[in-house]
Amino acid sequence: MLDLILRGARLPDRSDPVDIAVADGTIADIAPRIDGAAAREIEATGRLVGPPFADPHFHMDATLSLGLPRMNVSGTLLEGIALWGELKPLLTPEAVAERALKYCDLAVAQGLLAIRSHVDVCDDRLTAVEALTEVRKQVAPYIDLQLVAFPQDGLFRAPNAEANLLRALDMGVDVVGGIPHFERTMDDGAASVKRLCAIAVERGLPVDLHCDETDDPMSRHVETLAAETTRLGLGGRVVASHVTSMHSIDNYYASKLIPLIAESGMHIVPNPLINITLQGRSDTYPRRRGLTRIPELRAAGVNIGLGQDCTMDPWYAMGSADMLEVAHMAVHAVPMTSREAIRWSYDGVTVNSFAVMGLPDPTLRIGGPADMVVLQARDPIEAVRLKATRLFVIRRGKVISETPPRRALLTLDGRPTSIDPADYAPSDETRQ
Ligand SMILES: [Zn+2]
Repeated sequence: MLDLILRGARLPDRSDPVDIAVADGTIADIAPRIDGAAAREIEATGRLVGPPFADPHFHMDATLSLGLPRMNVSGTLLEGIALWGELKPLLTPEAVAERALKYCDLAVAQGLLAIRSHVDVCDDRLTAVEALTEVRKQVAPYIDLQLVAFPQDGLFRAPNAEANLLRALDMGVDVVGGIPHFERTMDDGAASVKRLCAIAVERGLPVDLHCDETDDPMSRHVETLAAETTRLGLGGRVVASHVTSMHSIDNYYASKLIPLIAESGMHIVPNPLINITLQGRSDTYPRRRGLTRIPELRAAGVNIGLGQDCTMDPWYAMGSADMLEVAHMAVHAVPMTSREAIRWSYDGVTVNSFAVMGLPDPTLRIGGPADMVVLQARDPIEAVRLKATRLFVIRRGKVISETPPRRALLTLDGRPTSIDPADYAPSDETRQ
């Protein structure tokens, strides 16, 4: 007997519905009709069944700390960093772990089962590292949580940052982080990129830098990171996150830089919710959007994952662990509104972000892990449009979260008595 059968599932790239059979945590079969019984059957009724969502850029040590010890009044990155600096000495491992676990509950409900979180290592006590390595162990059965040793106050600018970063790696943190644009000088920033790449080589670890998260068109650390990645042959082990300065560079320099990034094989992670709110703050009008050049990087063949960055912390008062909200914001803020680009944004929060994290391709296939999300939407574009309800979240064949479908009951004379937002999808003929 099978553990689970999903009936009438629509896969992201297949229009005819299929049944999906699960045994021993693995997808045993995908076929138009699967006979036989299972301990549990779920009627997907033509709804989208896709892989879980992945968030390749997050800050779990700060999440859900909004208002502690005060609010960010200017809304800038720099006030956020200062505010976090006020909160850091007050942190306890217990409080950090409690907030992180509470966030992970919400992530599961949103079908978000892979998260890469930066962890600030500029506190000599390494409170957050201690807390989050424990949380990583606790959530391992249901979330792939990766930790990045992140010297928030600068590798060279903050005392003990490099020593603390190395200690954090010794404690089992997975990835080397950095923030070259926050070092004291451009030279220090470039030197930090080189030093961090050298540490990654020595330890055989990936690199994921907050890189050029600024409106300054002269902030060009991604160029150094691309060159080091190529020189050291690090390729897909390297991620440049944010890279908002690329919004403000001139087109000629972009035409030189983008091929260097593509050549290096590194990944790029824009964070649309945060970039659209933190960037352009010193502008009057016109006001820059501050998102990196997603269409141009895509056209050059660069893998791009979309990150959430923050949920209710010193940098961002909003957020809900909803990666479809992140994709939705990317579509608007870039903007990229073709059907093809909206469809791509769904990959940006699923398969592409798994690749950023160095995890196996999560595309549902026979023999693959039974990790799936059933959405109240017919296809990926509809999922992004509706920020669709996650009806069932399945990890290794077990349902770990269920949400009832969204349905409104109307009391209008001569009109339907109930509506399902997913019924508003365009017809098959008009969809393309
Ligand atoms: Zn970040």
